[in-house]
Amino acid sequence: MPTATKSRPKSNRELIFGDLWEYDPAPETADPKLKSRYDLFINGQFVKPKRGKYMPSINPGNEVKLADIAVADQDDVNAAYAAAKKASDGVWGKMSGLERGKYIYRIARLLQDRAREFAVAETMDGGKPIKESRDFDVPMAAAHFFYHAGWADKLEYVAPGREVKPHGVVGQVIPWNFPLLMLAWKLAPALAMGNTIVIKPAETTSITALKLAEIFQEADLPPGVVNIVSGEGPTGAAVMNHPTASKVAFTGSTEVGKIIMRALAGTEKKMTMELGGKAANIVFDDAPLDQAVEGIINGIFFNQGHVCCAGSRLLVQESVADAVLEKLKRRITVLRVGDPLDKNTDVGAINSKEQWNRIDELVKSGVKEGADLHQSACKLPPKGYYYRPTLFSGVSMSHQIAREEIFGPVLSILTFRTVDEAVEKANNTAYGLSAGVWTDKGSRILKMSTELKAGVVWANTYNKFDPTSPFGGYKESGFGREGGRQGLLDYCKVV
Ligand code: ADP
Repeated sequence: MPTATKSRPKSNRELIFGDLWEYDPAPETADPKLKSRYDLFINGQFVKPKRGKYMPSINPGNEVKLADIAVADQDDVNAAYAAAKKASDGVWGKMSGLERGKYIYRIARLLQDRAREFAVAETMDGGKPIKESRDFDVPMAAAHFFYHAGWADKLEYVAPGREVKPHGVVGQVIPWNFPLLMLAWKLAPALAMGNTIVIKPAETTSITALKLAEIFQEADLPPGVVNIVSGEGPTGAAVMNHPTASKVAFTGSTEVGKIIMRALAGTEKKMTMELGGKAANIVFDDAPLDQAVEGIINGIFFNQGHVCCAGSRLLVQESVADAVLEKLKRRITVLRVGDPLDKNTDVGAINSKEQWNRIDELVKSGVKEGADLHQSACKLPPKGYYYRPTLFSGVSMSHQIAREEIFGPVLSILTFRTVDEAVEKANNTAYGLSAGVWTDKGSRILKMSTELKAGVVWANTYNKFDPTSPFGGYKESGFGREGGRQGLLDYCKVV
């Protein structure tokens, strides 16, 4: 589904070799061991949904159906909560932290053992390049289990001098951009703290969650400790609103986050919300520009831009704006867009047709509002939901593409003159999840990181994650933290 392209400069490769040099395909061939049908995982068993309803999971890279996924309704969600409650009152609630840690550690090891299989499944189900699922999503998911396994018997250090207790049963809903990693972010701290869980993966990406359930069985995780109820929005609402959940955690759009908060206002439930973002990636004129360009490219094209902390608003100091734009225009011509399973692919498929349409709609609004469009003219595969890496220069703060989260491979470029103007523009958004600063001066990094209203500020790098480091937002990007000691605090009562 190509969109209109403008003329583009030739890449270095084309200048030297002409158009003759083509890469051979380099597909990853590990067997993802997919089933044709995935049932719900309740009380340690795979069970059919009570109403017998299934939904298809499509490979966005080629539009082929991968499997049928069970859709849980209220009765299934009730059964999942009953199992979680029993495990919380019984085996898991009574187990020592040391023993719980061994289970979490075992999950991490088994996931590592099956890392390639999980990476292929994740790429086929979600559309992300195999090099990302192989080198980022799966190892980071395992790292989250390892890190939290280490915490399970040291919980007295979560809130030193105070006693911490699990909430009991927690309900969790996650999005489709990092299906396995978001699952690990949610499950690992909750388990370490001694909670039991009912979780819903996103409708387009449930496969790796249900494959992880196979690992729970292999690890002999006691029945009911983790229950996975796949489904769509109504299943998510049933998970969030269930009276048995004393804490809920949600990652997804700000719009759905607000619906959940409205529904739960006035109840006793504890909540954490990780919502949208519109991060400023700020480049000062003293920054090492070539490195900054790599950081900008990673910041917006990693995972096709389906990243809540994506550096989707580039703020460049006016004196270097033309130079940075030229470098970016050239750089996007050599991004390889295509088969997500190819090991050389840089930008894979957009996760769904709906998301492709939303991205395209926002790109059209950018053109209509007068910003200058620059797109890569790369060849796109004939089938699948691919979108050309896109830059907009000449963007002003009032443009829709400068304000709304696009969640796609689209960068809006704005300029600034002074440090204060950069801070003012960066903070002039409803969101506050992340930001990036590129400069040679340490003092400027410190000033910016104090003044930017963002949960994470990266300096001279972008999209760096670690299980020890808390992640979360300000304002409409949500509240609560995931990762590190702070993330554990959100899964316990401090008494
Ligand atoms: P995205 O923009 O990432 O698609 P959504 O907020 O639409 O974000 O979806 C994130 C998750 O929230 C998905 O698992 C989805 O099924 C779920 N969801 C959608 N509507 C609701 C709702 N009303 N209550 C709870 N969960 C919901």
